Amino acid sequence: MEDLLYNSSNVKRVVSVGNIEIGGNKKVIISGSCTFGSYEEIKSIVTELKKCGIEIIRGGAFKSRTNPNSFQGLRDEGMKILKRIKKEFSIKIIVEIMTIDHLKKYADDIDIIQIGSRNMYNYDLLEKVGRLDKPVLLKRGLSATYKEWLMSAEYILKGGNNNIILCERGIRTSSQEEIRNVLDIQAIPYIKNNFRFPIIIDPSHASGKAYMVESMSKAALIAGADGLIIESHIKPESSLCDAEQTINISTLKNIVDFNERMINNKN
Ligand code: PEP
Ligand code: MN
Repeated sequence: MEDLLYNSSNVKRVVSVGNIEIGGNKKVIISGSCTFGSYEEIKSIVTELKKCGIEIIRGGAFKSRTNPNSFQGLRDEGMKILKRIKKEFSIKIIVEIMTIDHLKKYADDIDIIQIGSRNMYNYDLLEKVGRLDKPVLLKRGLSATYKEWLMSAEYILKGGNNNIILCERGIRTSSQEEIRNVLDIQAIPYIKNNFRFPIIIDPSHASGKAYMVESMSKAALIAGADGLIIESHIKPESSLCDAEQTINISTLKNIVDFNERMINNKN
């Protein structure tokens, strides 16, 4: 693989999202709902997340759904709402972008551009993201090998954008009923040992089950992940998308507290 990616100099890349560092000393927890249906809904979630100390919020405006009849996100209206929320709460936002048109239109408003699993192979989109000077969260494809995932990162790097955060979000196995995917925890030491870029874990899409998210989050933090991206909601059962894997705020608080304890024990 090319030198751009390899950790040959042993210098770790810290990705700055405003004054928040991903890949630095502190592990960063990103959270929010899979998507949202109104300003009031996302506002009520962000209000609680802020109390937990969450500074980067997820909330899908454009949803890549398997079923074309499922809710696709509020789209342009959703972006208007997110911009408003960002201002009102002084938070950072991470939003998945699926098309080059939307990238042109919204890149300036988004703090971290998410490239979803289904778009990990969208090389046109990766090239365009590579020309921006903006943090990018690159999710691993649904069943991508490490090499394929890292070559997608290489597309972004080649354009000059070094602000890459890798995200392991579970890979497919033969078991589809009990769990959604399998969290590849080995990706953490593999990436940390061989590459310069931070890696964060998405335990929500990995397991597909809310009851698994807390233990998988803790496992990822212990294994050395630089952070987590977790789906949460004040009323998980009313989530418009991915309700089954969405945790409530008190579970999220447990994870945040666990992370704080890990940090304090180190010092
Ligand atoms: C998401 O984060 O909402 C999402 C759709 O994730 P993935 O691309 O990992 O399926
Ligand atoms: Mn989701």
